[in-house]
Amino acid sequence: MNQVNRMISGFFWIALFLAVVLLPVCLLLVAPTPSGRPFWLEFSLALGFFGMTQIAVQFVLIARFKSLTAPYGIDVILQLHRHLALVALAVILLHPLIILIDNPSRLKLLNPLSGNWASRFALVSVLCLLILAGTSLFREKLKLNYEYWRFSHLVFAVLAIVSAQLHVFLAGLYTNSWWKQAIWITATSAMLALVLHLRLIKPAWQRGRQPWHISEVRPERGETWTLVLEADRHAGMEFLPGQFAWLKLGGAFTLKEHPFSFSSSAGSRTRLEFGIKALGDFTSTIKDVEPGTAAYLDGPHGAFCIDRYPAVGYVFIAGGIGITPMLSFLRSMADRKDPRPILLFYADRNWEDLAFREELELLKNRLDLNLVFVLEEPPDDWQGEQGKINSEILERHLPEELIHRNFFVCGPAPMMNAVQDALLEFGVSKTSIHLERFNLA
Ligand SMILES: Cc1cc2nc3c(=O)[nH]c(=O)nc-3n(C[C@H](O)[C@H](O)[C@H](O)COP(=O)(O)OP(=O)(O)OC[C@H]3O[C@@H](n4cnc5c(N)ncnc54)[C@H](O)[C@@H]3O)c2cc1C
Repeated sequence: MNQVNRMISGFFWIALFLAVVLLPVCLLLVAPTPSGRPFWLEFSLALGFFGMTQIAVQFVLIARFKSLTAPYGIDVILQLHRHLALVALAVILLHPLIILIDNPSRLKLLNPLSGNWASRFALVSVLCLLILAGTSLFREKLKLNYEYWRFSHLVFAVLAIVSAQLHVFLAGLYTNSWWKQAIWITATSAMLALVLHLRLIKPAWQRGRQPWHISEVRPERGETWTLVLEADRHAGMEFLPGQFAWLKLGGAFTLKEHPFSFSSSAGSRTRLEFGIKALGDFTSTIKDVEPGTAAYLDGPHGAFCIDRYPAVGYVFIAGGIGITPMLSFLRSMADRKDPRPILLFYADRNWEDLAFREELELLKNRLDLNLVFVLEEPPDDWQGEQGKINSEILERHLPEELIHRNFFVCGPAPMMNAVQDALLEFGVSKTSIHLERFNLA
């Protein structure tokens, strides 16, 4: 998809989103409607419907539809999901608040014993939404295991939307005609069908149509392993250098699914590589994966791609395992015999842990590539850069003519922020700086 198509598609999705979230409020105005009720009460109902539709839209946002994520990048869509869900929650909370301010005697509805079924389902829905927000905002502080959190997120989201729908039906206002009821039932069923698609149909398709197996687990420097996947009798996966995929090992239906950048050349579709650093529960098990293990991929995803941003030359800045998308850039460019100049800054703790450094040196023979290694704990005889990547180090090596270069940065968050600030200070335009953060969750 070229830049113009991406823009058109971007505007299309924004327009569709606005139309969808405003549709229920418009439906409220179509007869038959209840009459003689105070404005604030009607307004609070409109907020409730508006908030609920926004929650329903979240199911679409997280469904990883490529046509939806391509114009923006999936990381932007997931950020949007986080912000919109919080806005929806705030809007939904205003709905009961206004009703209570209008008539404080309705406070008894908050008690499940004295309330009616409509208010009970409303309470369940709001409670689920509050749990969703709390466990997402404070997942790390609460030390919630990522997989458990993800599973509970799905369960509470489904409970929240189904309870909200039951509340709307039992309250009976604005669902007093068969066609309005049909619209609401169809919308809720569509959301539940999406969940089924994501959890059952898509994995079943991956198992039947796009299975992979592990052909090699290669140790690299710095507690890193290269996982090599080979396609089982299918055409493989076409991706752009810099993109990533969600990887499942063993079973297609497992909830254990982790995102990793392709580290291999985009020229090879049936033999893919991922460079994985042992940093946690799942990544520490990679070294023990047996060749022959079944693997499933959901991808390619992501907008961190040189092919999306043509330039006369590139500057890649990597910290630690952030080198993997850069490796895919370099391997792909070498395979394509790309003559454009590249400058790679690569920072890590020490020389021995610098994954893929031998291959990077070899790639200099096939590319117009300059390497700047930056070590935090350099050996005694080290002549190169040391410390953390900062504006002084960048300034010493960056070419004079920055304006026509594109910059790709991937590594620990503090490094990425420091590099971005420095580049902006040097006058690099924001649209020429591309960041890949390895913490989507
Ligand atoms: C776009 C992208 C590309 C990546 N590419 C690479 C790569 O090429 N090489 C590499 O080594 N690492 C890569 N990562 C990071 C890798 O996905 C995480 O290190 C890994 O998922 C952590 O899992 P764990 O169980 O080992 O760690 P844990 O210690 O269990 O988790 C550490 C943290 O990682 C995050 N995390 C855990 N599981 C998931 C999951 N399933 N999905 C998303 N986040 C999760 C959570 O924030 C969690 O708190 C990438 C991440 C992203 C988002």
